Amino acid sequence: MASGSNSLIWFRKGIRIHDNPALEHASKGSDYLYPVFVIDPHYMEPDPNASSSGSTLAGVNRIRFLLESLADLDSSLQRLGSRLLVLKGEPSEVLLCCLKEWNIKKLCFEYDTEPYYQGLDIKVKNYASASGIEVFSPVSHTLFNPADIIQKNDGRPPLSYQSFLKLAGQPSWASSPLSTVISSLPPIGNVGNCEISNVPTLPELGYEDIGQDELTPFRGGESEALKRLGDAMSNKEWVAKFEKPKGDPSAFLKPATTVLSPYLKFGCLSSRYFYQCIQDVQKNVKSHTLPPVSLLGQLLWRDFFYTVAFGTPNFDQMKDNRICKQIPWNVDDELLEAWRDARTGFPWIDAIMVQLRKWGWMHHLARHSVACFLTRGDLFVHWEKGRDVFGRLLIDSDWAINNGNWLWLSCSSFFYQYNRIYSPISFGKKYDPNGNCIRHFLPILKDMPKEYIYEPWTAPLSIQTKAKCIIGKDYPKPVISHDIASKECKRKLAEAYELNKKLNGVVGEEDLKILK
Ligand code: FAD
Repeated sequence: MASGSNSLIWFRKGIRIHDNPALEHASKGSDYLYPVFVIDPHYMEPDPNASSSGSTLAGVNRIRFLLESLADLDSSLQRLGSRLLVLKGEPSEVLLCCLKEWNIKKLCFEYDTEPYYQGLDIKVKNYASASGIEVFSPVSHTLFNPADIIQKNDGRPPLSYQSFLKLAGQPSWASSPLSTVISSLPPIGNVGNCEISNVPTLPELGYEDIGQDELTPFRGGESEALKRLGDAMSNKEWVAKFEKPKGDPSAFLKPATTVLSPYLKFGCLSSRYFYQCIQDVQKNVKSHTLPPVSLLGQLLWRDFFYTVAFGTPNFDQMKDNRICKQIPWNVDDELLEAWRDARTGFPWIDAIMVQLRKWGWMHHLARHSVACFLTRGDLFVHWEKGRDVFGRLLIDSDWAINNGNWLWLSCSSFFYQYNRIYSPISFGKKYDPNGNCIRHFLPILKDMPKEYIYEPWTAPLSIQTKAKCIIGKDYPKPVISHDIASKECKRKLAEAYELNKKLNGVVGEEDLKILK
């Protein structure tokens, strides 16, 4: 067992060396530093919403991304004279063992606003304070501290982006250097009886080996994040003119946005560093776009959702969530499964769902299309069901942002114009009239003439035969008629909104049954 001044840095998100105040603090004045990551079996538990048995709460693409990120972190730590110690088990229990075994005097980890981590952290902090261990847990995952914004707003989270911006203002660190560059780290002490391993492989974690074409093209890790960021920032004009929702959601060879979300999710990239890089570009151009549409504005959306999520009890459900409209969604497993497994018969929707399964990433407007289709646009299935599917399959799956966007897209919160529905036919066609994205992700339709690619069920049988794709046999017929279903959805939402207004938002399950 090592003695002296021993510190432990507990990596969870924040899988990086740059702008990492917890790592910096842990290394200062310590004789020994133990860099730890705990593989949490929680994410490897079976997912009740998965399409095939044996699927886990976190899909294979996200776990692979995590393992790549850990391997990259390990290499960086080794260059600094240290290494990553990987352990496995319920994280708070594992941590308590390490704290005891290694005689830790200082414990450092990034603050996390997710309820799951808040629960873990209470246990660890209680133990540390009872044992006289110093705890340093800085906010460095977001641009702002959500608690500060909520406090400025009399204890309530701001519910609109504009009010969030007003409260947030310019971040205090915006024009100062972030954290000092770390050139070396204290050595690791004796690891005693703790079961340390190297970064595991996918099969070692019980994930089946799957074919390369089922795996995301995006590789995890801080090195990859900084390279990707550098590439994006080198195109100053693109950064300055960035405007969302403009941009082509069907572009897959060269996506229309940065694809930095998975790196931000795991903290391989610091959002503050990203913010400063955008600021530097903006200072050196004549004009640039502004929030909410600019690239800086996208990062502020992220902080907006983090703030609302942190300040809203039961943010991830309809029940007992004061900002969520109560809507009598259908329970329809058949429709849910057709959506989830890319069998709706609408090629634009199905192609995006294949992209989700294979890549774990889709453009923002593609996410809009499929989320609207599942909920208020066509199928009227509960947003929580779609949220779970995204939660498992996205590599950027993020508790606050995923829930926030599903609340938005289903017109349950933030956005209420339920008459504005994305057409599963004409929306994609506007960007990609030839259907290249569909042909790529649904090769069964690759020979369908462009006139029919968005509505293949309208193609004459002779054309289907020539395209080697008979609708109803090789590719499904549409599960609903969009014209009829979307009208019905609007009618149900109008009724639900009326009831929410009448009952002042306090709508019980019995009230909802009346609308069914
Ligand atoms: P860019 O346009 O390059 O933006 C840069 C960064 O800004 C992103 O990486 C992201 O961190 C942040 N950002 C951009 N748009 C949003 C937004 N609308 N809300 C919050 N932050 C944003 N994003 C996630 O990171 N994780 C999720 O789990 C997630 N679930 C979503 C679910 C639905 C139904 C929808 C409609 C959107 C969801 N998003 C989620 C938001 C958004 O689609 C992605 O952040 C974005 O497409 C990621 O691509 P990018 O990195 O190229 O984004």
